[in-house]
Amino acid sequence: MGELARGCLPESQHVNKNWIQRCVYHIFYLGLSGEVFSEQIRRILIVNLFSIVGIVFTLPLGIAALYRSNIGLALALLCFAFIFCANQLYLRRTRNYRVCGNIVIYPLYCLMLYLVFTGGVSGTGYVWIFCVPAVSLFIQGIKRGIIEMIIFTLLLIVILYFFSNIYGMAFHYDADLRFRVLASFIVVFFLSTIYEYSMRRFNEALRHSSRLLQEQAETDPLTQLLNRRGMQQRLEDAEAGALHLVLIDVDYFKNINDQYGHDCGDFILRTLADLIAKELPEGGWLSRWGGEEFLLALRETDSSQAIEIAEKIRQAIENYDFHYDQQDIHITASFGIVPLGTENPLNIALKVADRLLYQAKDAGRNNICV
Ligand code: GH3
Ligand code: MG
Ligand code: MG
Repeated sequence: MGELARGCLPESQHVNKNWIQRCVYHIFYLGLSGEVFSEQIRRILIVNLFSIVGIVFTLPLGIAALYRSNIGLALALLCFAFIFCANQLYLRRTRNYRVCGNIVIYPLYCLMLYLVFTGGVSGTGYVWIFCVPAVSLFIQGIKRGIIEMIIFTLLLIVILYFFSNIYGMAFHYDADLRFRVLASFIVVFFLSTIYEYSMRRFNEALRHSSRLLQEQAETDPLTQLLNRRGMQQRLEDAEAGALHLVLIDVDYFKNINDQYGHDCGDFILRTLADLIAKELPEGGWLSRWGGEEFLLALRETDSSQAIEIAEKIRQAIENYDFHYDQQDIHITASFGIVPLGTENPLNIALKVADRLLYQAKDAGRNNICV
């Protein structure tokens, strides 16, 4: 099975699409979401297109060959048209582009070798082989594509140089023609390899920089924790379940900045991030929610476990000596804990956590409110 299981991607929402767009969408994209143009969808699209092109060319040419009473060629072309049709149906049912890619490529090799061997119509069979390297390298990838193209080239040499004119069925290629066919095929093979290689490098670089940008967009530069945007994204994507939010706000942090300077404040925020992260259970998320506020998401945790974790963090902060510029600084923090669920959606839960936090402040700070 390919990487993309059937039904893995959302079917299109047909709103705002006219009937022509809907037809194109169903024929070429097999109804997969066109908005998410992932590598898998691109591959499905290309395998699908090759398969359709295979049908469009082999079927009418097969019928034309039948009309001309060229029975051998007609049978071969119609047989391939049938294979491409079956492949289309299989691809539509399974979306397995790997198997379908092989079903496109191997019959294509056979058909091309057959056309070179017999000469096709009036000795023009060889003109079709120049599309093979591009298709092969795309479907099979660089490594396998090159190996298969070398084997294909060797078979071409055998047909052009050893089979030509030997049997009655084989087409006679004169020395100049066979050399030029072979040389131009090798040039196309070489250029297709370079093109495919540079395209892949380009795609990899693009994917890498888009991953990097995504990471940067979700990371707080001071603490290297998730920022508000990254946390919000995760919380929105998280399934409702046993999930608790813990909002932490440092007490009297403004005084730290005023007394020891902004750099010291930054140092404390960085150290705090490490301190809280140490107490974070596996699967939990920690973010810098705002200036001196941290938001924890505790997953698969009930409220008593959430309180226990918050208490550990509270004590760890209270007991920690922040050494800065040969000075020992002590700070405390206040906590608000709230469950997140269907009856308590994110926006409401965040407001409640904020309210609880201020209750903890009113109660004298260095407190946890649930
Ligand atoms: P409270 O106990 O009521 O929370 O008092 P507080 O002083 O912590 O409250 P307040 O929200 O008024 O102050 C937060 C301070 O955090 C103000 C701001 O200068 C500081 N701050 C916010 N972001 C940063 C930062 O990135 N670095 C440093 N050093 N300070 C920051
Ligand atoms: Mg604050
Ligand atoms: Mg504060």
